[in-house]
Amino acid sequence: MMLDISTLRVALAVVTLTLLCLFYFITFRRTRSPYSGWWCSALLLFLTGSASYLLDGSAHQIWANPLGNTLLVGGAGAMWAGARSLRRVRPNLAYLVAGPAVAAVAAVLDHPAVNNWAGGAVLLGLMGLMLGLSSRELFLLDVDYSRVHRPLAFGSALLALYYFGRLAAFVLGGPEGPAFTAYFGSVVTTLLTSTILVLASFTMVELSNEQLTRDLRARATVDGLTGLLNRSAFMDLAANELRRLSGARTTACLILADLDHFKSVNDKYGHAAGDAALQAFSAACAASVRSTDLVGRYGGEEFVLLLPGVSPERAGQMAAAISARLQEAQPNVAAKLPTVSYGIAPTGPGRVDLEALIAAADAALYRAKTLGRDRAVLAGSLREEHSA
Ligand code: GH3
Ligand code: MG
Ligand code: MG
Repeated sequence: MMLDISTLRVALAVVTLTLLCLFYFITFRRTRSPYSGWWCSALLLFLTGSASYLLDGSAHQIWANPLGNTLLVGGAGAMWAGARSLRRVRPNLAYLVAGPAVAAVAAVLDHPAVNNWAGGAVLLGLMGLMLGLSSRELFLLDVDYSRVHRPLAFGSALLALYYFGRLAAFVLGGPEGPAFTAYFGSVVTTLLTSTILVLASFTMVELSNEQLTRDLRARATVDGLTGLLNRSAFMDLAANELRRLSGARTTACLILADLDHFKSVNDKYGHAAGDAALQAFSAACAASVRSTDLVGRYGGEEFVLLLPGVSPERAGQMAAAISARLQEAQPNVAAKLPTVSYGIAPTGPGRVDLEALIAAADAALYRAKTLGRDRAVLAGSLREEHSA
């Protein structure tokens, strides 16, 4: 049975238009994710590009044929940009414009009025290249994304190979050659393209939801001013970490830090200077801890650190190091930076309850304040770890 190419093309156009509408009105309008935006553009370009070829054989072929090539390469470029946006890599606009521009010039110089395949080799090569690049982006995603994109990565790799095959057959035997008409003709291409479009649209809905969820999750766990963990994220992570540590019979220290007379920083230098001081303290913390430590903003001008495997003595030294770093930062900030008081609570052999640990650190912090501030006090004793 011979498949009728005109019918197939109409079917492909209907499928593409349906996907475009669904994608635009449901996924893009709801999520506004960069990925769904690029994919809508790609569908639109594929649709208009294919439609341009309907004018082949008419007087309009001279412009419609090069336009079709240009739009198709643009569509493959938008697909590439979309895949890149998942890795937060900004698409290089110069490349996105260069591809379609080269396709247009090649077609215009190749007798587009009478040649249905004007600029054909360049078109096929660029399509293969863009699809290959999209596939590469999707494979690079593997590290931290779910696996929904895997079939699409294979699909676009396959389509890229198919286009390079078409290119080889086209260069060797021309569009009327036996290899091109038998394996790489319009019927096969149209069927393959329909499959990939459906596969891609399905995957992209999943991916743009995932992109959205990630943004929301990042915003929900990070404190906006300091970039440290917010209180609830710290509590979740610290509780898990304590459970893990008690299983591994490892001890840890929790530090509660409170900036001294912070209210007067705000009163004297203004709220913005107060914010800058909070940021300077966060930076000093981040620079003094290891990647395995947890640092959070407990609220206002109070901070909390969980240091796995650290002795109380070492915790006292780390507190001193943070204060020293903060004072070094002084010249960069307009206001005079405040000193800091610390309460340190070690996990006992059985004590792994986070609330109890924080309460112990809070009592020690209170002692540090009453003893004159700018110091660290170890919970469970009146021993001072550090005094300025
Ligand atoms: P102490 O040495 O006893 O800790 O005195 P303090 O002034 O630091 O303590 P207090 O709790 O009385 O004041 C904390 C101040 O922190 C009050 C509040 O206005 C300020 N503050 C809380 N959050 C922020 C913030 O996000 N930005 C700024 N600029 N100030 C904040
Ligand atoms: Mg306070
Ligand atoms: Mg304070």
